[in-house]
This record gives sequence, C-alpha cells and structure tokens, in this order.
Amino acid sequence: MDASQPDSKSYDPLERSMQRRVVAASAAVMVMVVAHLLHPLAHGHDTKLVDAALEFGSAALALLLLLVGGPQTLRVLRERRQDAERAHAERKQVNHLFRMTEMLQSANGYADANAVLGATIDSLLSGFGGALYVFNNSRDRLELSASWRWPEADTLRPMLTPSQCWALKRGKPHLNTDARGALRCEHHLGCATVLEIPMTAHGEIQGMLKVATTLPDAAAQLDRIQPLATAIADAMSLAVSNIALREKLRTQALRDPLTGLYNRRYMEDALARHASLAERTGAHLSAIMIDLDHFKKLNDEFGHAVGDSVLRETAAQIMGALRTSDVACRYGGEELLVILPECGLSEAVAKAEILRERIEALSATHDAKVSASFGVASIPESTRSVADLLGMADAALYQAKEGGRNRVVAAPSRETPMLPLAAE
Ligand code: GH3
Ligand code: MG
Ligand code: MG
Repeated sequence: MDASQPDSKSYDPLERSMQRRVVAASAAVMVMVVAHLLHPLAHGHDTKLVDAALEFGSAALALLLLLVGGPQTLRVLRERRQDAERAHAERKQVNHLFRMTEMLQSANGYADANAVLGATIDSLLSGFGGALYVFNNSRDRLELSASWRWPEADTLRPMLTPSQCWALKRGKPHLNTDARGALRCEHHLGCATVLEIPMTAHGEIQGMLKVATTLPDAAAQLDRIQPLATAIADAMSLAVSNIALREKLRTQALRDPLTGLYNRRYMEDALARHASLAERTGAHLSAIMIDLDHFKKLNDEFGHAVGDSVLRETAAQIMGALRTSDVACRYGGEELLVILPECGLSEAVAKAEILRERIEALSATHDAKVSASFGVASIPESTRSVADLLGMADAALYQAKEGGRNRVVAAPSRETPMLPLAAE
C-alpha cells in the first residue's frame, strides 16, 4: 500500500442510502407494531386471518431487510476496513518520511545520505529501481551518485547534462517511456520506463531522482507512486543542498581558491599526520618544494592574469601526476609543496623530474618561458626529524635556484653531500 492511492472515498452517498433504508425499515416495523396494537380492537373481523397476515408480513419484512441490508452492510464494512488500512499505510509512510528527513539531517556526506535514501526506496518503493544524480561542483553536469535495484535491461549513464533532460529543462517531473509519440530525454538509453523528478531546494535544482520499472503497466505504476517519489525527492533535495553547502565551506577552508590545491594550514596538519604514521611504521616520507622561476618577470611582461593562469595550470599539472594519497599545497605565492607519503628519496626525485617536465611544457601554451625549480628531501634518507624535512627541501630548492633554475636538487642524504640531479 502507498500514499499514491486515490484519496479515501467519501461515505456520504452510501451512508445516505443506508439511512433511507433504515428509515423505510423502521417505518415498516412501526406499521407492523401499530397493526399488532390495533389487532385486539379489530372486532367483527376474522382475527385468525389477521394474525396469519401479520406473521407473514413480519417474516417477509425480516427477509427483505436481511436481503437488502446484509450485502450493503458488508460492503460498507469492507470499504471502511480498506480505508482504515489505507490510512494506516499512509500514516506509516508519513512516519517513514519523517524518519528519513530526520536521518538525513545527521548525514555527514553523500555516502550517508545515499544510504538513507536507499533504505527509504527499499521500504517505500519496493519493486522499483532508483537512481540519484547530483550536480558537480561547476554545476555543468550531473553525476550518478548512487543507484538501487536499477533494471538490468536498462543502462544508467555515469553523468548527464541538463540540456539532455526534459525534467531538468522544465524543472518538472518527466516520464521517459517507449510509448509511441512520447517525448524522451536525449540521455534515456534503455528500455525501462523511467520517472525523473528534479530535486529543488533553496530555489535551485540540486539533482534528480529517477524511478524505473519494466512492468507491463509501467506508466500507470509510476503515475501511482509519483506523489510518494516526489515527497522522497523533496526530502533528499534539502539534504543534498546542505551537504553541497557544507562541502563548499569545507573546501574553502582547506583549499586555495586560485589553484584548488590545499592551503598551508591543511598541509601542516597533513604533514604532522603522515610524519607520525611514518615514525610508527618506519615508512618513508618525502617532500618536494617547488618555486616557479622568474615569476615576477613573467607577471611584469605578460600581466597578472597570465601569471594567475600559469599558476592554475601548474597546479593542474602537479595534481595530474600525483597519487590520490599525495598532498599538494600552495605554500605561499608561487611556491608549492608536495608531500609524498610512503615514498623514498629516489622515487620522489623521479616524481619531481616528471613535474619539472610538465611545468616546462606549459611554455608552449603561453608562448613564454615557464619553468620551476625543485628541492627534494625525505625521511629517513635526508633526516629523521619531521621538523627538519621542509627546511632541507627548501635548502635543496635554494641550491636548484643557485645552480641555474629549472632543475631538481635532492637534499644531501645523512651520509652524502647535496647532489644536483637534472640540469637545464
Ligand atoms: P625566482 O626564480 O628567484 O623564484 O624569481 P621570482 O621572480 O619567481 O621570485 P620573486 O620571489 O622575486 O617573485 C615572486 C613573484 O610571484 C612575485 C609575485 O608577484 C608573484 N606572485 C605571487 N603570488 C602570485 C599570484 O597569486 N598571482 C600572480 N600572478 N603572481 C603571484
Ligand atoms: Mg619564484
Ligand atoms: Mg618564491
């Protein structure tokens, strides 16, 4: 049972008809009673005949009442029971939606919210497949965030753009069906019938909930559950909006707005965390200090906007060459720092050389000389102390600048002196 069933029927016509019948029966009974009362007064008549007529009349009346009123009463009782069941199911759904909203308020991120949504769909829309799409950060496309029991015969795209989707273009639910003459979204691939509900909160579309079925009467089934699916989508849209806002604030607190790299505060926390882990496990930990060469000159010659875009692209080149466990941060100005957990000195130097080549390759894009110098230090090869790690990387960077820039220099290992590794 679900809330999308038609509203409870009114009892009025039925009850009025019942009332009419009760009044008629009461009148008939009263006539019979009056006839009984008048019976002793019926002098000069054949009382036996009157008695027989009265008994026959009573029996006929009782039979008539039973035949007419019985089925009617049963029907009323059945409908009342169905209405009570419907009301009970609706109350259960409302309670479930309340619980869902409450749980969503405690959701820490998309994983939590998706788990709550999945459980709700399982319970309230069992028999249907569900999928949630959420806008990416730049809000130019929606990414598949989660799916539940999606029909195997159908395909879910990992992402879709608003221009491909009627539900998003119109901001209203849309049914993608294979029926002739139906208007289908460009992204609709499979053979399932899919109800798409845009999720709006704070005046903005946050994402889209898809509900699918391959049942033969799919359109009617989806039409029936649409109000419930819309209520679920509404609850979820607020949660998605809150999570997006929270992630944005967290990102702003952790990342540098120009390059998107972590900021120095985050890096200090990350370094302390990785250093204590390295100390406990004996794992290697490396740091690469990077400084763009003659950046002041580049700004002066080409303007700050070009300088900014070189910084952004440098950051993108660095991010593109790192593992997800590595931490790249903007240390300040045109100085960047990369922390490489579980990475020894020679591996870190090789990584720095790759970064150097990638940054130098930006010269072609900007028709200007772009390069950077690198200083690399590692625990335990260069030092055993995390307090010395960045200082040693910085000293190696200074050596790289002194040596002519656009090169990688490794900090001296605890036994050997400082060694330039790549030259212009
Ligand atoms: P060197 O090779 O010795 O590192 O020379 P340099 O010019 O890069 O070093 P210097 O420290 O003299 O100058 C750093 C320049 O970086 C100056 C500053 O304007 C520029 N810079 C720092 N932050 C930004 C930024 O966010 N955007 C732009 N466009 N420039 C920046
Ligand atoms: Mg510089
Ligand atoms: Mg500098």
